[in-house]
Amino acid sequence: ERTVQRIAAGEVVERPASVVKELVENSLDAGASRVAVSVESGGTDGIRVRDDGVGIPEDQLDAAVAEHATSKIGDIEDLDRGVGTLGFRGEALYTVGAVSRLTVRSRPPDAEAGAEITVEGGEVGEVRPAGCPAGTTVEVDDLFFNTPAREKFLKRTATEFDHVNTVVTSYALANPDVAVSLEHDGRETFATEGNGDLRSAVLAVYGREVAESMIDVDWTPEGSEADGAADADDAPVKRVTGLVSHPETARSTRDYLSTYVNGRYVTASALREATLDAYGGQLAPDRYPFAVLFVEVPAGDVDVNVHPRKLEVRFDEEPAVRSAVETAVEDALLDHGL
Ligand code: ADP
Ligand code: MG
Repeated sequence: ERTVQRIAAGEVVERPASVVKELVENSLDAGASRVAVSVESGGTDGIRVRDDGVGIPEDQLDAAVAEHATSKIGDIEDLDRGVGTLGFRGEALYTVGAVSRLTVRSRPPDAEAGAEITVEGGEVGEVRPAGCPAGTTVEVDDLFFNTPAREKFLKRTATEFDHVNTVVTSYALANPDVAVSLEHDGRETFATEGNGDLRSAVLAVYGREVAESMIDVDWTPEGSEADGAADADDAPVKRVTGLVSHPETARSTRDYLSTYVNGRYVTASALREATLDAYGGQLAPDRYPFAVLFVEVPAGDVDVNVHPRKLEVRFDEEPAVRSAVETAVEDALLDHGL
């Protein structure tokens, strides 16, 4: 049974960043206003995610790390809606516990004392009292310690940290109302304020030069409610918002083009290409802008039909989505005389 667990885990827990992703999602699901991520050696030696969310009552700690345990009834509906909570459906903590030494320590704000539970390679320990602030701290040590050919799963520390950074950054930008921080080997990488302002989150993550070059994007289809009328209920794109950088603030990688569909971080080549098309000839050769773009489409119009980890999406109305994003970015650049 352990082996089955581990094989399943190898398929879903690909690397430290996939663990970080699940833990951060849990913290956000728990209504946290503060999520602090800290990793050692790119996450290969240790991962800790601390939040100030609703916490887990002591008598539910063992259920939280058990197979198929979820307290999130809405999840199945989310799946039907296409871009909902992806991943493990009550499997994340269980799966991580199978391939690491996992500690979940928690105290709901109204509980007097906290408690913790440890899982080592699938072996679930007793619930013990633990002193802790309100909220939840999850620690994952020695990831893949019991997995044959552990090295095969893990690349260089710098590579693993890059992936962790990408994950935490994507959540920090999607949730500017949450103070998200990332620390690597004791050094702070970034910390957003959680003041609800996207530009402020961009400042924390990418620095002042980038934040100051960012141009507001806010597009709604003609005839939509936001535009005065109310006959665009069936528009294939409801809204495009976010920030894009001045064409001179560009880099040699596409890594800084972040796109979100209905609030969820996705990779969608259609969205990236539409964004780049909007710049026309304004970008230097092999240069890419910074962008944080949120696209809202009707719930049923988007499919996550590649592997869930990849977050690659397909749109029913791809040409319309492309053209909306291109127009949104073009309009924003035009507003700035670009
Ligand atoms: P899922 O998120 O799909 O429900 P998980 O294995 O990620 O499955 O988590 C199992 C359960 O543990 C969650 O449903 C939730 O009740 C609880 N839980 C996990 N992390 C947290 C957290 N940071 N704060 C509060 N509850 C949590
Ligand atoms: Mg989860």
